Amino acid sequence: MKFSAQPVSNGADPGGTDCRTILLDDADQPIAAPTAELTAALAPVLGCGAFGKTAYQNLLVPLSDSPLGRALLLYRLPNSDLSRLALWAFGDGVANHIAALNFPQATLDLSVFDPEKARAMAESVVLSMCQLDYRYTEFKSTPPPKMKLQHLRFLTQDPQLAETLKSAQILGEAINFARRLGDTPGNHCTPTDLADTAVQLAADHSAIETQILGERQMQKLGMGALLSVAAGSQHPARLIVMKYCGTRAKIAPHVLVGKGITFDSGGITLKPGPAMDEMKFDMCGAASVFAAMQATARSTLPINLVGIVAAAENMPGGRATKPGDVVRSMAGKTIEILNTDAEGRLVLCDALAYAAKFKPASLIDIATLTGACVVALGHQASGLYANDDALAEALLAAGERIYDRAWRMPLWTEYKAQLESKVADLANIAGRGAGSVTAACFLSHFTSEQKWAHLDVAGTAWHRGDTKGATGRPVSLLVEYLRSCAQAA
Ligand SMILES: [Zn+2]
Repeated sequence: MKFSAQPVSNGADPGGTDCRTILLDDADQPIAAPTAELTAALAPVLGCGAFGKTAYQNLLVPLSDSPLGRALLLYRLPNSDLSRLALWAFGDGVANHIAALNFPQATLDLSVFDPEKARAMAESVVLSMCQLDYRYTEFKSTPPPKMKLQHLRFLTQDPQLAETLKSAQILGEAINFARRLGDTPGNHCTPTDLADTAVQLAADHSAIETQILGERQMQKLGMGALLSVAAGSQHPARLIVMKYCGTRAKIAPHVLVGKGITFDSGGITLKPGPAMDEMKFDMCGAASVFAAMQATARSTLPINLVGIVAAAENMPGGRATKPGDVVRSMAGKTIEILNTDAEGRLVLCDALAYAAKFKPASLIDIATLTGACVVALGHQASGLYANDDALAEALLAAGERIYDRAWRMPLWTEYKAQLESKVADLANIAGRGAGSVTAACFLSHFTSEQKWAHLDVAGTAWHRGDTKGATGRPVSLLVEYLRSCAQAA
């Protein structure tokens, strides 16, 4: 898919397209200086009364033998000033409409907007188009047809729009990278496969270096919590460390830690059967880390970034960890495992302890951690926990800006009491109430020295039911946050 920006020049028609989308304001004004051909084509449509003044009303006008192309797609803008959020939804609607028309080329005229609005709209359209372009066809003998649209041009008065299109496309493709990893079946996406993904990223981007730690190395580091999760699986665990260097080596890196449970059966605390296949998505946190590394490298952001993925498969088996077992974490705290299905926090606590050695500027973990988060926030917002208000604000703002929203949840000390164990320093699960909060509280025991945030994406990382598939969230939020860090640097 190609996106390009074309400046609007007075009186000259940009030509060369199949379908041109025109946004009209409430005075029926399409662009700063509409050409004679366009005015002539619009006159009968606007004059016949079929195209009223209702906000967002649209109309497809077929053209024959016209230098304007094969069709005009008209959209009515609302009277009121459009908020960024409204523009975002509008852009998504327009992208879906253009894609459904099945033309190889289309043009979207944004010249009615000021630069800020044009950029917001363009960002939304590009991200939606990338989403629409995505297919997971790896195992289909007859793959579904590809999207017809190959090239979308934006008409604009804003010389910066080309830059916006480029960074939006990098993000859109990173989201699809995360979706592809998420959608890959568990038998084709083992911890070793994830390690191979990291090696490939380093091969593709000279600014990325990768180091893979095997079980013996993790043993030496004392990662008893992480290793206990992989104990029942035939696939050994991996700790994947990726380093992106975009500025002076002395500058503290931002560190992302992803939960990479390539399949979560629940272990000995076996999950119920229905929808258990969706547990291949339990590595979507890890997928978002890979994608954020890729987008950062492709955007050559002037920051340092470390991505850590704790990769393991959680299976029952003769050597699997049992409820009641006690393990020792890398940080030295002992953990009583009361439920082997609460394994995400076990792999994360060791990965977070390992992350400390990078002295992070900020430390963010991303995990499909708890069903309780889905109960609390549904599928709209990711749960955000943080021990630092500025970091929380920056993440919330990034999510708001790029429409990948999170909602802050409490990390009060009072909740921590629920994690007390009779035999160890901590239990890996608390009672029924506030399951997402107590999971975050568990992690907070391992990050008190860091500026740390935790994103629980169990409700947002994949679609259930008929539209089952990875969403690529929260890649947008992460990349937008890293871009804001780069801007501030
Ligand atoms: Zn689990």
